Amino acid sequence: DVRHGPILYLEDVTVSFDGFKAIDNLNLTIDDGELRCIIGPNGAGKTTMMDIITGKTRPDTGSVWFGSRHDLLTMNEPEIASLGIGRKFQKPTVFEALSVFENLELAMAADKRILPTLTARMSGEVRDRIEEGLDTIGLTALRDRPAGILSHGQKQWLEIGMLLMQRPRLLLVDEPVAGMTEQEMERTAELLTGLAGKQSVVVVEHDMGFVRSIARQVTVLHQGSVLAEGTMDQVASDPRVIEVYLGA
Ligand code: ADP
Repeated sequence: DVRHGPILYLEDVTVSFDGFKAIDNLNLTIDDGELRCIIGPNGAGKTTMMDIITGKTRPDTGSVWFGSRHDLLTMNEPEIASLGIGRKFQKPTVFEALSVFENLELAMAADKRILPTLTARMSGEVRDRIEEGLDTIGLTALRDRPAGILSHGQKQWLEIGMLLMQRPRLLLVDEPVAGMTEQEMERTAELLTGLAGKQSVVVVEHDMGFVRSIARQVTVLHQGSVLAEGTMDQVASDPRVIEVYLGA
């Protein structure tokens, strides 16, 4: 897979809520095709950072760029999403009464470029993309079952599949393995590492064992800015990181 340098830049970003700096001079660069894990204690600013990238929260100062052409601070949430930035929240929100296949079909319809084809008749391209998605998330055998019967892990994978229907360039994933069994966690690790390369993936996760199993690069947030960055071994042996996680 071809790398084209950075896909996302946050530069000197600050956000205050009632005078409290939730994000404090944050600098972050995500490369095209990379899988980055973001860790940090509660209140470190992880959720606020995701909200800034998707346009839900406006920074007070700083800049946020997608590639070298898109200044995200000039765009609203739907415009940012249409650039190919998809976000998976912690709780799965699949349509339980619809089949796995229909959930993917519906997610595809949200892609406006494909809507005219879909409403006319399911084109080969649309079907192919759904089949490919089913295979990626490992739910081909359950394609015609209602999503309501899926396990918690399978619902999470289906939702990731729904995001993939939009052909994202950057996927933001919030605590993907919360509540999963060991087996589901292993499958999720395979899924996310498989997606990276085809798109960039940013994962916010508390489970350090899981982070260690997937991450090449880890960013540690603390008090709204980057405390440390590097491989899991590098950040885990950083005295400042140890203090934040284990100290007083
Ligand atoms: P994390 O996701 O790392 O736990 P958050 O981004 O949720 O951290 O929060 C960072 C800090 O900003 C916390 O102290 C939180 O209480 C505060 N905060 C987040 N959102 C708001 C808000 N809408 N209003 C006031 N304070 C907020």
